Amino acid sequence: MSTASASAIAELLRVGATYAQVRATLGGASRNDIADVRRAEGIPVPERPQLCRTPEDSYALYAEPYGDGHARWTGPWAGRMPQVCHPGKGGRKESALRIAFRMRHGREPQGYVRPFCSEPDCVASGHLADRTIRDNLKRQSNAPRGTKPADPAPRRTPDQAAAMKIRADIAELLRAGRTYREICAELHVSTGTVTATRRALEIPRNPPARRRTDAERREETEQRHPRVAQMLREGKTYREITETCGISGFTVNRIRKILGIPSNKRRGRRTVAETLALYTQPHGDGHARWTGPTQDGRPVLCAEGRVRTGRREAFRAHHGRAPDGQVLNSCDEPGCIAGDHLTDKTIRDFDATYHAIFGDTA
Ligand SMILES: [Zn+2]
Ligand SMILES: [Zn+2]
Repeated sequence: MSTASASAIAELLRVGATYAQVRATLGGASRNDIADVRRAEGIPVPERPQLCRTPEDSYALYAEPYGDGHARWTGPWAGRMPQVCHPGKGGRKESALRIAFRMRHGREPQGYVRPFCSEPDCVASGHLADRTIRDNLKRQSNAPRGTKPADPAPRRTPDQAAAMKIRADIAELLRAGRTYREICAELHVSTGTVTATRRALEIPRNPPARRRTDAERREETEQRHPRVAQMLREGKTYREITETCGISGFTVNRIRKILGIPSNKRRGRRTVAETLALYTQPHGDGHARWTGPTQDGRPVLCAEGRVRTGRREAFRAHHGRAPDGQVLNSCDEPGCIAGDHLTDKTIRDFDATYHAIFGDTA
């Protein structure tokens, strides 16, 4: 090594250059040569901060996102555990999973931190669960709906055990602020599954959606049911609309109200008695069948500006009083709506008492 390069090395070392910087500046020089110069000139080794990255920065540097929200570790490992050094000389070493968990949840993890997604080595902070989260989930799957968990925990059925898995895809969508309805539609899961994941991971609920304005509701309804809107405006009856559009009378009524379409005059004028007469068709031995609109298979009628239950109105018309409890027909003709074949709780109670005292022959 020439004297010229030795003095150049000494000069650089004195201003605090690292060995790498010396080599880069001079276009060469071995580590041993540089060390020799340092010793010969008595230049002290400067105190250099060992590492100035925070654990959070290290995590961000080494966790490489891939696929559906997963992340793989590209940093140092301690055995099978991804590892991060805390700053400072001889800084404490910590599992990257714990650091990621703390970043996501803002609290210390309890017990082991493990990914719950399909990737066994995933380090994505949103895919990690600690004991608290696993316990949250266990408590939910053990307890039947709306009850407190029994103690000791009962054995899980295979179904419950399968349902216990936290779904990473659901968690992603929940955190993205998507609604239950959107998540269920996209992932084909039940609201129960969404709730289980949300509760286990302690993801807060979305703030309640802003109520739609009347104008927005009108526009949405208009777009969803253009044919119904058109028929209502043409003055068609509910029956004609339910038959054409395949929706219930209740829905037609709701659409009419939202759209602010005045009710059909003819329908408004018709009384309950007239409507009953119109839709009740006598047959057989005093029976009657309903020919009017139905809702879930039960007769309904629109009269005097309201949607009413056919059986209750038929009972009231025959007995001259409001029925008490459920209205059933006492004859063997299914769906019979003849007034004197309809019973309410009072009539059935009376019949039961009568039979108890006098027997069937009386
Ligand atoms: Zn993952
Ligand atoms: Zn009957």
